Amino acid sequence: MKYSKAFIKTMKQDIGEAEIVSHKLMHRTSMVRKLASGIYEWLPLGHRVLKKVENIIREEMDKVSAQEISLPALQPKELWEKSGRWEIYGKELVRLKDRHERDFCLGPTHEEVITSLVADIVDSYRQLPFILYQFQTKFRDEIRPRFGIMRSREFLMKDAYSFDVSDESAAESYKIMYQVYENIFKRCGLGFCVVEANSGSIGGNFSHEFMVMADTGESEIASCECGYAANIEKAVALMDYDTPDTDNNFVKKQEMQEILTPDKKTIEEVSEFLNIESKQFIKTLVYYADKDYIVILVRGDRTINEIKLATYLDALDLRLATDEEIMDITGVQKGFLGPIGLRKGLRVIAEESIGNIKNAVSGANKKDYHFININEIDIEEYVDLMLVQEHDKCIKCQKELNFSRGIEVGHIFKLGMKYSLPLGAEFLNDQGKRNTIIMGCYGIGVSRVVAAAVEQNHDDKGIVWPWAIAPYQIGLVCVDIRNKELLELSEKLYADLNKEGYDVLFDDRKERPGVKFNDMELLGVPVMIIVGKKYLKTNQLELKIRKTGEVVEKNLVEIFNFLKYLSF
Ligand code: ATP
Ligand code: MG
Repeated sequence: MKYSKAFIKTMKQDIGEAEIVSHKLMHRTSMVRKLASGIYEWLPLGHRVLKKVENIIREEMDKVSAQEISLPALQPKELWEKSGRWEIYGKELVRLKDRHERDFCLGPTHEEVITSLVADIVDSYRQLPFILYQFQTKFRDEIRPRFGIMRSREFLMKDAYSFDVSDESAAESYKIMYQVYENIFKRCGLGFCVVEANSGSIGGNFSHEFMVMADTGESEIASCECGYAANIEKAVALMDYDTPDTDNNFVKKQEMQEILTPDKKTIEEVSEFLNIESKQFIKTLVYYADKDYIVILVRGDRTINEIKLATYLDALDLRLATDEEIMDITGVQKGFLGPIGLRKGLRVIAEESIGNIKNAVSGANKKDYHFININEIDIEEYVDLMLVQEHDKCIKCQKELNFSRGIEVGHIFKLGMKYSLPLGAEFLNDQGKRNTIIMGCYGIGVSRVVAAAVEQNHDDKGIVWPWAIAPYQIGLVCVDIRNKELLELSEKLYADLNKEGYDVLFDDRKERPGVKFNDMELLGVPVMIIVGKKYLKTNQLELKIRKTGEVVEKNLVEIFNFLKYLSF
């Protein structure tokens, strides 16, 4: 591409609202442009990267014989009612009516459509297993579109779905896709890790997220040297179940007592008043979950992981109850609630961390009173609802966990029969018996990958593209196009490089060399070849490597060999 003809405009100014560097740089290089909140146009430079990522994904998917399809974005309500998601998807689902007042949505994902398609086509086990995939614009009316295309309302996703006859076979498909995803992100030149992810209401360890490591990432990751890594939403830790005691670990159980604690409501206030550490407390919380109220007990120094709680309860609408609601439901003022003597009929769930507290302290369900030395509480539901925190220990090897951030670029998921059952995707097995298909789904946020790549690969001069997804791999800069000899040489080199299959951006503009160099660096082109006056004396051209800033001199023949063995 000749720069003089390219639809590129570089800008010095950042876009005001940009919070993270990828948003700034994608705007300054005119890769994308905002049309409305969370809705973006892809300009040629951005589009080239998007297509490169797409092609890598397609090649890797095709290698495992996944088959590409294309499904409609516009989807009828009836399908979504069958899966139950018309109700539960909430406001993120973009809904609309056709001229006959029939309800439709714009697909945020395609489980319903693909399952109904497969239900129509598959009759026999002989047709299984297979994996179908597509590249498609998805629509999600995100509550908070942000970070440019990273979290947008309209974005490109590659979604894939596997269909198997059994759990074992589905696990095999999952394994294949896991490997495919590793290959894809490696080929894109990204630093990433794979973490255990919250698998929603389905449970089990069958969900992994692929995270591009970046400090600005929205996801928090807990990981350990031993290889354990999980999204904080899902992470577990080894709890120090020991009763706190400075002299020895053996604490005698003592008689429970009711203590007057006037106006001492918070854990800090009561622990100071009684001179007891907060981890000796049983914190008693009331949650509102889909029209029900639930009492949750957790150790005083720990926090409830609300994602785990929502998953456990299968709740869509989860929040802490208000002070008035607490009073209504329990008859007790906030701050004096506890597990002993709670109003009958309330559902109480204990976080596992309270299991081993000896001589625990908690509210006495009476204003201005607490119990000390609680050793017996009558609860059946003990659940891991722990939010892991700094200094927690790895469940696998007991070393301290590390915390970092990442951008979720891919998510793989074993669905089981979640969609195949309600949508009737069945097959006849080799005994002629009717069975339900076992499904998996596998998404990559293609447009988010582009932003994540910039977030991970940039410096103060601009983007530093990994070779494999760079919009142009080589930036050919003719420092003075008025010099006939230099221009001719540049033209020839441009043609030869193109012939060799390189993507070349040839800066043939009537601009000062400084402007051209700066633009090339801002755009992040991995290798710049500078056709300058020096060549006329020495026959050498300068090559500058964007990533390292290294400059090497090569003659016309050497250049091609050099490029061939470059690796990024
Ligand atoms: P998130 O937790 O970031 O909202 P999600 O769990 O809703 O993601 P999935 O439904 O698993 O995401 O979608 C598959 C992939 O699509 C994600 O891994 C992510 O890369 C991408 N993605 C999801 N939402 C958006 C969005 N609003 N804008 C751009 N990419 C997105
Ligand atoms: Mg989401």
